[in-house]
Amino acid sequence: MSIPQQPTYSGNRTRWGVVPYITAWSSEEPKPYALVIRNGRLGYADETRYDRDSAGVLLARIGISPGVGRPKFKNVHHLRQRRAMRKLLCQVCRTPCGPDAVWMLSAQEYQNAEGPWPAPVLTAHPPLCPGCAAHSARLCPHLRDGHVLLRALRFKLAAVSGMLYEPGPGGLKAAEPATVEYGNPWTRWMRATQVHMRLEEYTVL
Ligand SMILES: [Zn+2]
Repeated sequence: MSIPQQPTYSGNRTRWGVVPYITAWSSEEPKPYALVIRNGRLGYADETRYDRDSAGVLLARIGISPGVGRPKFKNVHHLRQRRAMRKLLCQVCRTPCGPDAVWMLSAQEYQNAEGPWPAPVLTAHPPLCPGCAAHSARLCPHLRDGHVLLRALRFKLAAVSGMLYEPGPGGLKAAEPATVEYGNPWTRWMRATQVHMRLEEYTVL
């Protein structure tokens, strides 16, 4: 008797090749929600304590079923992206990187640094372990046009990106996608997806 094989997520090799930890899978659908204004900020009608990050920013809801369905290589699963950032896990193999963390920025991100090198730079890409850094340029479509490898000495979670909402005559409506710094009052009106790290001090590898 053969046992049906459900593709299991190992953070490593699958029948699609290496599927990065933060890649979204086709089974991971956005979840239904109804937005309300509560205490002067955006909220869910049926909000639970899992719906906000530690700074109180509302998080977009999404299913969690890595390994089920097909990998969507162009889509980041924002809850795993956040977890990788918070815990400094390799975005490909999920290994805790610690001081070995390598940060791979696209040429575009690097050009958006907050001044001439080595000015602080904001990135939505979680770190890589040294072993995965070498492979990632090949895997990640936005890095094919050039990238920079950094080792960060000082860094902090600095901003969130997602959709900003505004009250209108017909209720709340989506205004525009944005990236907003923690501490900025506009975070109260965001349904956030990815978190951004500011690399404040770093060396270029
Ligand atoms: Zn890795």
